Amino acid sequence: MGIVDIDQERCIGCGLCAQYCPLEMVFINSETQKAYKCELCQGNPLCVKACPTGALQLVYGETGEKVNG
Ligand code: SF4
Ligand code: SF4
Repeated sequence: MGIVDIDQERCIGCGLCAQYCPLEMVFINSETQKAYKCELCQGNPLCVKACPTGALQLVYGETGEKVNG
């Protein structure tokens, strides 16, 4: 399992991905008319670093290793 990445060069801003995401985690930027979503902060997730209890963990797909912030 990997992450979902958005190729901004190919995105036409149709909004279908945002429409179908059940958690409403994809949005269309009104200025750029491109789709955006969490892309794990380029592998350094700030939400994991900020979580004070370790509830948020970065899990590596291949090894299952879990890393807290
Ligand atoms: S808005 Fe979403 S579904 Fe439409 S082209 Fe961009 S990434 Fe693909
Ligand atoms: S802070 Fe967390 S949820 Fe927000 S973009 Fe970064 S990894 Fe995604």
